[in-house]
Amino acid sequence: MQLTAAHRRPTHRRKALIVRATLLHQAGDVRVADVADPKIQRPTDAVVRIVLGCICGSDLWPYKSQPVTDTPRQMGHEFIGVVEETGTEVRDLKAGDVVVAPFTYSDGTCESCREGLQTSCEHGGPWGVGGVDGGQGQATRVPYADGTLVKLPVGEDSELLPDLLTLSDVLCTGYHAARTAGVRAGETVTVIGDGAVGLSAVIAAKLLGAERIVLMGRHTARTDLGREFGATDVVAARGEEGVAAVRELTGGRGAHRVLECVGLKDALVQAAGVVRDGGTISRVGAPQYAEVPLAFPEFLRNITLTGGVAPARAYIGELMPHILDGRIRPGRVFDRTVPLEQVAEGYRLMNDREALKVIVRP
Ligand SMILES: [Zn+2]
Repeated sequence: MQLTAAHRRPTHRRKALIVRATLLHQAGDVRVADVADPKIQRPTDAVVRIVLGCICGSDLWPYKSQPVTDTPRQMGHEFIGVVEETGTEVRDLKAGDVVVAPFTYSDGTCESCREGLQTSCEHGGPWGVGGVDGGQGQATRVPYADGTLVKLPVGEDSELLPDLLTLSDVLCTGYHAARTAGVRAGETVTVIGDGAVGLSAVIAAKLLGAERIVLMGRHTARTDLGREFGATDVVAARGEEGVAAVRELTGGRGAHRVLECVGLKDALVQAAGVVRDGGTISRVGAPQYAEVPLAFPEFLRNITLTGGVAPARAYIGELMPHILDGRIRPGRVFDRTVPLEQVAEGYRLMNDREALKVIVRP
């Protein structure tokens, strides 16, 4: 679409003509570079100045595997920012609003969006590809601003910002695991994985009333945080030994719901081992395998497999009040902060497991 000056509605004189952003050139090669200053391109766009971003476990996959490219990719899909400018068709947001972005953008109007599955939006997509900016930088253009962004009732200097930043991805992803698994009050839940999503799944299981929450993970600092988030038991063992330990903790029957927050085949096999007959496995760890190892034995046990990519946008409004009233503090998953210019060090810290989750401050 060709846009004329009339489509632009400058509400704030922007100072910078270039902005700094995180680019991935090839595996292990993350750099901060000048990119074009984001501008309104469509009347439904907003330009957002980013005040807080972070590195996701899923950013580590391209960080480990990206081949050399002439067109480095802009990184980052979790951010909080301040609206600087809005297109003429943006109705719900204005310059100065503090907003959080889910890890995909979505129009908010199509059938999928109206059904609460914004990750399947017919006009939506991921950050950082196809001419859309990333979230690890100083500013970004947000497509379908009304459908994508959620206004936060706090200032850009609020101490709650790290907690609210988890609404971009990890808290909503953990919650999606618990919701799709159908966690109900009084049930036993096993969470597989002690990364930021697994720890968020512990928070979510507790919010939904789980009585017993068994966290499977091997990193003591992380499982200790998991206990503070609501895990009643921790099992460090994996494989058959781990399955046996969870079975012993659950009277031999296994957990009603299993939240698989890793994405590896071994984790799914483990999930099948610890779920009780008639129970549910929800996988929200993006699968790094092609075939699902649930065959005739699991069929005989009436195991349900559910989960998938989380429509974070659908859950932000529901989860935000728990952060604002202090009931949950999911921002504790952030254990390091780096300035934008040192984002490469942030990637290294997470890749080497020296950090659980890293905030990037522009
Ligand atoms: Zn949509």
